[in-house]
Amino acid sequence: MKEGPVSVAILTIGDEILYGQTLDTNSQWLSAELDTYGFSVVHRATVGDNEPDILQGLADAAARAGIILITGGLGPTADDLTKPCLANYFKVPLKANPAALEDLKALFRQINRELTETNIAQTNLPANAEPIPNKLGTAPGMWIADQGKIYVSMPGVPHEMKGMMTGYVIPRLQEEFHLPVVVHRVVKTIGIGESWLAEKIAPWEQKLPQNIGLAYLPSMGQVKLRLTMMGKDRQQLAKAINEQITALQPYAGKYIYGYDDDEIEQVVGRLLRQQNRTLGTAESCTGGYLAHLITSVAGSSDYFKGSIIAYANEVKEKQLGVNPATLAAHGAVSEATIKEMAVGVCRALGTDAGLATSGIAGPGGGTTEKPVGTIWIAVALGDQVKAKQLNLFKDRLLNIKTTAMATLAMLWRILAE
Ligand code: ATP
Repeated sequence: MKEGPVSVAILTIGDEILYGQTLDTNSQWLSAELDTYGFSVVHRATVGDNEPDILQGLADAAARAGIILITGGLGPTADDLTKPCLANYFKVPLKANPAALEDLKALFRQINRELTETNIAQTNLPANAEPIPNKLGTAPGMWIADQGKIYVSMPGVPHEMKGMMTGYVIPRLQEEFHLPVVVHRVVKTIGIGESWLAEKIAPWEQKLPQNIGLAYLPSMGQVKLRLTMMGKDRQQLAKAINEQITALQPYAGKYIYGYDDDEIEQVVGRLLRQQNRTLGTAESCTGGYLAHLITSVAGSSDYFKGSIIAYANEVKEKQLGVNPATLAAHGAVSEATIKEMAVGVCRALGTDAGLATSGIAGPGGGTTEKPVGTIWIAVALGDQVKAKQLNLFKDRLLNIKTTAMATLAMLWRILAE
């Protein structure tokens, strides 16, 4: 069994990825999956469906890593070049592979279908390749050991590739390599920007032991802090990381809403359930996205009553009871209106808490006084109403998502306090 860091290069093949028609989710999934098993992904590249680029891609990947994982180009059509390219790269012929043919026959018996000539041709593999069974499709994968390196070729279709990785490739790599144990923990903060957070936690970060890696991962109003440690004993590593998370509390505790897989909508839901409170939303610029997030949590019917999508002023007045004089004096995107919307939804739906959003999501509709990205949000709870103005971006979808996050963050802070 080989010791030491195990480096992996990922090569994805396909013109459609280079043209931007297909998002390369295979590389992202493979990186994340390999990381959890203690492999180090050191190189990722995409090449088109042509022989010179595939050969160059293989050489580059092999120069960087001991394990080369390849996806794509295994189908039966003329643009599927991975097999002839691998044969050329290793200077071996393509040969009928009886084991691959047996696997394919078994698959076809299961689905009660006749093998075609094209299917049979798919089992011609480079002479130095061992077939990897594909339980979810017709193209076999390939495992090739050459000059101390391992090359694995898998289909581009994501679920076929994932099936092959988890069912065959990972277990076999684990048998061949001695891998370190890797422990990650993610601390999730909300309501503070990355640079402000970095400033606040600087004294903690300076004292962080060198063998703990720290990454800042910002996204839409949140900043995740990922702590990583490699070693031999999972329990010891987890203990060391947890000690650092405890030490972080005095610096950032007030912004931490959860850990690892926690999402803000789940945490808010748990608090509402614990406090026996119900919730409704009055949504103008988020158009129901806030309600979508809240209802994507299983069991949300325990606390969520519904949403009024009050896009037009008429709906704000009729359904939420916003005073026409408020709208006339301050406009729909204003502190006065957002507060009436939040209180109004509690009254209309009979809930304890109400969330409201109203703003100029863009790209059009801005004025000098209220440019695109000017958004008001509010939370009503009991007889308290809190409102806040956000100054966001020019991008409509980003504004919708960030507004929903900020509104949930505001409710979380009030419930948590
Ligand atoms: P097939 O047997 O279906 O031809 P293949 O190995 O030849 O499989 P490709 O033809 O390269 O795979 O891709 C099949 C489909 O899989 C593509 O249409 C694309 O939707 C998806 N795909 C390919 N590569 C990737 C990738 N890197 N990330 C995400 N999806 C991908």
